[in-house]
Amino acid sequence: MKTLQELTRPNIWALKPYSSARDEYKGVAASVFLDANESPYNSPHNRYPDPLQWDLKKKLSKLKQVKPEQIFLGNGSDEAIDLLFRAFCEPAKDNVVAIDPTYGMYQVCADVNNVEYRKVLLDENFQFTAEQLLLAADEHTKLIFLCSPNNPTGNDLASDEIVKVLESFQGLVVVDEAYIDFSDVASYAGKLSVYPNLVVLQTFSKAWASAAIRLGMAFASEEIIKILNKIKYPYNINMLTQKHAIDMLHRHHEIEKWVKTLKEEKLRFEQELLQLPCVEHIYPSAANFFLARVADAVKMYNYLVSEGIIVRNRHTISLCSNSLRITVGMRSENNSVVKALQQYSETEGLL
Ligand SMILES: *Cc1c(COP(=O)(O)O)cnc(C)c1O
Repeated sequence: MKTLQELTRPNIWALKPYSSARDEYKGVAASVFLDANESPYNSPHNRYPDPLQWDLKKKLSKLKQVKPEQIFLGNGSDEAIDLLFRAFCEPAKDNVVAIDPTYGMYQVCADVNNVEYRKVLLDENFQFTAEQLLLAADEHTKLIFLCSPNNPTGNDLASDEIVKVLESFQGLVVVDEAYIDFSDVASYAGKLSVYPNLVVLQTFSKAWASAAIRLGMAFASEEIIKILNKIKYPYNINMLTQKHAIDMLHRHHEIEKWVKTLKEEKLRFEQELLQLPCVEHIYPSAANFFLARVADAVKMYNYLVSEGIIVRNRHTISLCSNSLRITVGMRSENNSVVKALQQYSETEGLL
């Protein structure tokens, strides 16, 4: 790997971050706080939240088996993705490499930051080779994005190829594990001490059932996390979000049950759909959604909308023609899809 200084944009490396009132005060336990122009009324919402969210990070640290200093918390994983571009990619000069198809935010953040986005098409099993990915990279490639389980395809990426990329690439390798709780594969967070160029992204939005609170996590070396902390908004995670996340961590046994139920329900839902003549194929999924190939995705999508059922039409995405991405919901919701598609098959003269 190149040194972190070589990888970081020079202005970011040299940046002196904003120092908030709460950053500067690090003393004995104080009881009178007149340093931040807050109101004394409306406790506890009158106070600025902890800029580095230490309570939450200490609790997360135990669960994730990484040091609190190796955790960055963002307003969704999307904040971490954007900050990675802003910290490491010089606009109009650097580039990033990603698999295709994958999560759309990588390209959006690249475009916003005027950073070239290089796509490497997956094969027919939605897998990649390290060799092809590295061929697309050059001396200006700062980041490689891998999403496993991948969105929208649902599969785990081959771990031997991920390891090859980690071992050979000179820049940072971002492994987006938004769906890792549904997968049988272990998180790469356990490999942070082996690979100094690894950044793992996870989120409270999927298995943790908390998309509304906007909380994403990045796990990486302490040095990488320091750079992200330096450029984030000072109070990027509000107090309500920090509190809710701590509550959810106390409920982690319940979350594990939800995950188990959803995985079982996914198999049942898939079997029901495969009975229908309008569903041609369901791709293997390690996530809480699956990609289904159908005869006419646009027609089926519109039919489902007319029945008040919204799925994701991926017809225009690489390798996903005539495919719908369907999230696993409650059994009753999933049954509504099956019932609607039975009717659809009848009206299409398929049954
Ligand atoms: C849903 C999703 C996220 C989550 O983003 P948040 O901003 O944390 O809600 C991240 N990556 C992928 C691949 C996703 O599908």
